[in-house]
Amino acid sequence: MTSLANVRFVLVGTTHPGNIGASARAMKTMGLVNLHLVAPKIYPSAEATARASGADDVLAGAIVHDSLQSALTGCTHVFGMSARLRHLAVPLMNPREAVTSLEKFDEDAQIAIVFGREHSGLSNDELDLCHTLINIPANPQYSSLNLAAAVQVMAYELRMSFNPQVDPGRIGEAREAIHAEDLIHLYDHFERSLMTIGFLDPENPRYLMRRIRRLFNRADLDRNEVQILHGILRAAETKARSSK
Ligand code: SAH
Repeated sequence: MTSLANVRFVLVGTTHPGNIGASARAMKTMGLVNLHLVAPKIYPSAEATARASGADDVLAGAIVHDSLQSALTGCTHVFGMSARLRHLAVPLMNPREAVTSLEKFDEDAQIAIVFGREHSGLSNDELDLCHTLINIPANPQYSSLNLAAAVQVMAYELRMSFNPQVDPGRIGEAREAIHAEDLIHLYDHFERSLMTIGFLDPENPRYLMRRIRRLFNRADLDRNEVQILHGILRAAETKARSSK
């Protein structure tokens, strides 16, 4: 299995500099940094920089080549992105199949993903340099994505195969794990409190505690949430005692 650091995105003959900037941004959001440009029409350009937004480092690191062959130097596997299904001499995959196929490559495999021009895609000579074609299965009546959108789809699939976890730092505070004994303690507290407030009848408990355990086992509680539940139970007990 190779790594994201060994994947380069190659944009061939891009006409609109804004698409180069937007592609750099799409790559950086997914942790990809190696951008290669083959004979871009207008580059460098203020529009590319503007569209890169905070990804100007990826843009600044882009290597410009005059031919696709030069951009592929050192690559062991070359994937060509094509909106059309005409060039059937090479295997065709969807993005997910393509990233899955990377699993069998060794760790120093060097991967290129090649994207074509906005108007005409990749030429036949350029497609001949690709070992595998990738097609994003889109609406058959309108299957051509904007270049940077195609870059985003591919970059996302790569990230999902290499690094699929959601970073807990992104979903608010870090969640502190609890242990089995914390849950036992919580369920004991539930049982006592529910009796105190008169909800659980010890003579006729039916399956209440089992259901409550099932509910909270499913909830993947963290330490903070367990503390909140203890607090709620204590408040309910206090209220029940004071109204007796
Ligand atoms: N009109 C061109 C499409 C250009 S879109 C054509 O028909 O070939 C610019 C580039 O984005 C394409 O060359 C390809 O690399 C990528 N792309 C766009 N839509 C795609 C799709 N559905 N599947 C794979 N790549 C796509």
